[in-house]
Amino acid sequence: MSIRSDGGYADRTGRVSDFRLTVLRDARRDRRERSTMQDPGSSIPTREFGIIFATAFRKEKTMRKAGTLHDAFVDELRDTYDAEKQLTKALAKMAKTASSPDLKEAFEAHLEETRGQIERLDEVFASLDEKVRGKHCDGIAGIIDEGKSIMEEDFDATTMDACLIAAGQRAEHYEMAAYGTLIAWADAMGHTEAANLLQQTLDEEKAADKKLSALAEGGVNQEAAHAAHAGDEDDDAELVGAGRRTNKTNNRTTKFGTR
Ligand code: ZN
Ligand code: FE
Ligand code: FE
Repeated sequence: MSIRSDGGYADRTGRVSDFRLTVLRDARRDRRERSTMQDPGSSIPTREFGIIFATAFRKEKTMRKAGTLHDAFVDELRDTYDAEKQLTKALAKMAKTASSPDLKEAFEAHLEETRGQIERLDEVFASLDEKVRGKHCDGIAGIIDEGKSIMEEDFDATTMDACLIAAGQRAEHYEMAAYGTLIAWADAMGHTEAANLLQQTLDEEKAADKKLSALAEGGVNQEAAHAAHAGDEDDDAELVGAGRRTNKTNNRTTKFGTR
C-alpha cells in the first residue's frame, strides 16, 4: 500500500482506495454541523437554545399583557388622587402664608373643596370596581416645591400674595389638564358615572382658577406693582396699564380649559 501525495492511497492492485478520503470528508462534515448547531461560546446546541429561548419568551408574553387605555386611565386616577392629597397640605400652608383675607379665604375654601374631590375620586374608583390607591404624582410635587421656595423668599406682603396666586394657578391648571384628559377617556370608554363625577371636580378647579385671577386683577397685582414703584408718581398711569395687561394674561390662561 502506498500513500499518494494527494492523501489517497493505492492498494497492491493500484486501485485507489477512497477509505481515507471518506474519513476526511466525514470529519469535515462533522465540524461543519457542529459549528451550525452550536452557539459560539456556549455548550448548548443552537436548536436546544432556541427552544429554551422561545419557551421563556412565550411565558414572558403571557405574564405581561400589554396595557390598555383602561389601565392607563386607572393609573392616571391614582396619580390624580395622590396630587389632590399633596395639595391639601400645600393649600393649608398657602392659606396661612397669605396676607389678603380674601386670598386666605379662597385657599381655605378650595382646601375644603379639595377634600371633597378626594372623596369624589373614592366614588370614581368604586364605580370602576377598582381599589382606592394613590401613586406618587411627580408633577404636582414639582409645582408644590416651587411654591415652597417662593414662600421662603423675603417678599413684601402683597408681592407674596401675588406669588401665591401664581403658584396656585399653576396647580389649578395642572389639575385641569389631568381632569380634562380623565373625562375624555372615561367618555370614550363609556364610563359615564366616572365622567360625571370627574366633570364636577373639573368645574370646581376652573372656578378656583377664575377666583384667583379675579383676586389678582381685583387689586393684588396693582398693589404689589405700586409697592414696587413707590415714589414714582408719574408712572402711576403706566402701572395701571401694566396691571391690566397682567390681568389679561391671567384671563387668557383660564380659557385653555377644554370644557
Ligand atoms: Zn375603561
Ligand atoms: Fe383638586
Ligand atoms: Fe384644585
